Amino acid sequence: MSTASPTLHELSCADDYDPNSMPVPKAREVIARFLSPVTTIERVAVRAALGRVLAEDVISPVDVPSHDNSAMDGYAVRYADLKADARVTLKMVGSSFAGAPFKGALGAGEAVRIMTGGVVPQGADTIVMQEHAAAKDDQVTVGGGNKQGQHLRRAGEDLQHGQPALRRGQPLRPAETGLIASLGIAEVSVYRKLRVAFFSTGDELMSIGSPLGEGQIYDSNRYTIHGMLTRLGCEVIDMGVVRDDPKLLEAAFREAAAVADVVITSGGVSVGEADFVKDLLNKLGEVVFWKIAMKPGRPLAYGKIGHAHFFGLPGNPVSVMVTFYQFVRDALLKLSGRDPIEPLPTFKVPCTSTLKKAPGRTEFQRGILSRDSSGTLSVRVTGEQGSGILRSMSEANCFIILPTAQGNVTPGTLVEVQVMEGVI
Ligand code: AMP
Ligand code: MG
Repeated sequence: MSTASPTLHELSCADDYDPNSMPVPKAREVIARFLSPVTTIERVAVRAALGRVLAEDVISPVDVPSHDNSAMDGYAVRYADLKADARVTLKMVGSSFAGAPFKGALGAGEAVRIMTGGVVPQGADTIVMQEHAAAKDDQVTVGGGNKQGQHLRRAGEDLQHGQPALRRGQPLRPAETGLIASLGIAEVSVYRKLRVAFFSTGDELMSIGSPLGEGQIYDSNRYTIHGMLTRLGCEVIDMGVVRDDPKLLEAAFREAAAVADVVITSGGVSVGEADFVKDLLNKLGEVVFWKIAMKPGRPLAYGKIGHAHFFGLPGNPVSVMVTFYQFVRDALLKLSGRDPIEPLPTFKVPCTSTLKKAPGRTEFQRGILSRDSSGTLSVRVTGEQGSGILRSMSEANCFIILPTAQGNVTPGTLVEVQVMEGVI
């Protein structure tokens, strides 16, 4: 991985750089400047390539389609035999079905029965749909009004031999693995998976299976983070819970940064007494920023420890998911070699709830997008928006994104939404 990154000095000279309260778009832009994608390449079989990122262009070794073929069920004819405004009767000399072509050439006054996908016989240049022809025994009668070359799919029309069928950086979805198979290609080059190590911090956290003592809670962040990383196709390294002890945390950071491309932690980035993450990061690497002007998720540290990128997510379960989707996701996609990265689509719909919102930061409230009986879309809020209420993420199917300057929202106002499915 390349080490070329902007220096903190360069960043801090920018007018609007405030590591204590980065506006959301600025934080995204700053992170993007540090990211150099993985370069290691692996060869994998087409099925195994699903979910991976293509590391080189796939060049078509063939014309697609490979032969001129029929787009319709009908008759392959010579245009020169047809009349513009009168019927002609042609002699049927054979058939061309998909996979069973007509062997030989079409002579003057002849036609061949052809089905969709059938190879157009030599000599034929036009297809007449069966609905526009009348066949009897070995004869077929065709009316006027035809165009030369109609209903014919030309060899190489979709893709020519030697042309790139897919570009480097393309994520491989079912459409792409099918396309690769259609070219007869059995293996492709993909980037190696991004290695992401993560751990939770907090003296109150218990792993499931152990009973809870007073003031203790189960660690849920490791499960949401594991899930989000897995869906993004990362190789995950779960390092468990690390207590709020500077020595243990330092050891965990060092170990994580040595094995992973990216280190993600949750908890311990706020200003509470037991929050050591920021200090440690300053000792082991560099902190680029640690607060974003957003809700939920204000404390969000981003920095580097050696070659590894570091995201210190807040502790609250909802904040973890919101900051992951809004910042970490795109960064991981870019580091995985995805190019271009599509910005997550958003659109505006009327909001039917009253939303409390103070100007000054971007808010990501959890919403439920639904259609009424007339098919009109609107969004309502999931209810209590506390950043510890993970159920609000589970009930939601979208984020309601309220920009910095926005104040309270009254019912009927248009708000920007971002659908979660497909994102997660
Ligand atoms: P912190 O940022 O460490 O002060 O944590 C903020 C809140 O999130 C506290 O209420 C923590 O108990 C809670 N929290 C932190 N880590 C986790 C976790 N892994 N799972 C569930 N809740 C957590
Ligand atoms: Mg904590």
